[in-house]
Amino acid sequence: LDHAGTTLTLGEVQSLEPDSLRLLAPPFAVAEAWTAVVRDARRDRDGRLVTAPRWEEPPVPEPVPDQSIDLPGPTASHATNLRTTLVGGLFGDPLLHIRPGGEARSLFLDLGEHPQLPVRLAHRVSDIFLTHAHMDHFAGFPWLLRRRVGVREPCRVYGPPGTMERVVSLLSGFTWDRIGDDGPRFEIAELHGDRLLRWWAQAGEQLGVPRGEEQVRDGVIHAEAGFEVHASVLDHGTPVLAFAVQESRQLKIRRDRLDALNLPPGRWLSELKDHLLAGQSTALVSLPDGGQVAAGELAKDLVVERPGQKLAYATDVSDTAANREALTELARGAQILVCEASFLERHADRARATGHLTARACGEIAAAAGVRRLLPFHLSNRYQDHPQEVIREVMEVFDRVWLPRSLAHYLARR
Ligand SMILES: [Zn+2]
Ligand SMILES: [Zn+2]
Repeated sequence: LDHAGTTLTLGEVQSLEPDSLRLLAPPFAVAEAWTAVVRDARRDRDGRLVTAPRWEEPPVPEPVPDQSIDLPGPTASHATNLRTTLVGGLFGDPLLHIRPGGEARSLFLDLGEHPQLPVRLAHRVSDIFLTHAHMDHFAGFPWLLRRRVGVREPCRVYGPPGTMERVVSLLSGFTWDRIGDDGPRFEIAELHGDRLLRWWAQAGEQLGVPRGEEQVRDGVIHAEAGFEVHASVLDHGTPVLAFAVQESRQLKIRRDRLDALNLPPGRWLSELKDHLLAGQSTALVSLPDGGQVAAGELAKDLVVERPGQKLAYATDVSDTAANREALTELARGAQILVCEASFLERHADRARATGHLTARACGEIAAAAGVRRLLPFHLSNRYQDHPQEVIREVMEVFDRVWLPRSLAHYLARR
């Protein structure tokens, strides 16, 4: 510092361009005789300190294909109630957002860091299915935690062994002295082989209270009307869960038959569906004209059934025979498989060292499982400039790839 033209320089900055100067004029100057010149510097590509760009002109960010990807949604022929978005796109932190059946609630598969997500999503998420707790899959938890203050509904968190301790440790990392009864609540479940161990935690209150355990049948860790979630334990150096969300069978009412029988639609149709889904075919349904008919009888004439759709999700999986077998089984016949394709085959040594699948392995698993569509994701950042190479390698073995619009757009730019 010196008088009259005080200069603060950063590092080895050699010259000052007028553009980069910020003058601290009165009343901010320490004293009239003093003027501070502050130069903001940053490192360039070669590591040299250079003048930072003027704040009025922020650099235009380079577009990268990591915008969220909407998966095939409801269409006339393949109606599904599982509307799904891959939030991080090809390169971003894994987070698959599923909205079951237009309900005002959300399921998250993995919880990477996406602070731009709307707050209402943090309020709505009812279930989080964690593959494992590597940071790119769980770093969004503090975001969620902060936004759930005051939400009384508990959020369920499913994960591999160790999940309870991680959730509880993160909760313990903050001071909750004035939260009262508003602390976020969690029901935590860990999958240990075919047993599901449960705990309860409420920020500012009790953390890690055991809630018993239960036997898991056919890998189903969560079931409710409309869908169930299956999990498989795979290996990634650490245990990793892969998930399949299986929609319940769908019942469609035949409008042509309703018209032909002169039956007006109404609440009785939902009653009919409820009985059929619950397997109560002898239950009586009250028709609009006051008559009563057994649900099974009505179904013969009025209802067509189609199997529910399945979505499978797997990432951070070592390429072993056991993993391939378990994942193929889990994803069999899925409408869509969202699967990591982290490395190109020519970087298979990196894939092996870090417990990831190559693009080719990803395609081979999709082919073996006979899925309808494959969305490869979780690409290594080294392919940021040429993701098409990864997609091409997948397509050499499995060409029914869901190509995100962001990638098509990105490719068109180059
Ligand atoms: Zn990962
Ligand atoms: Zn990982």
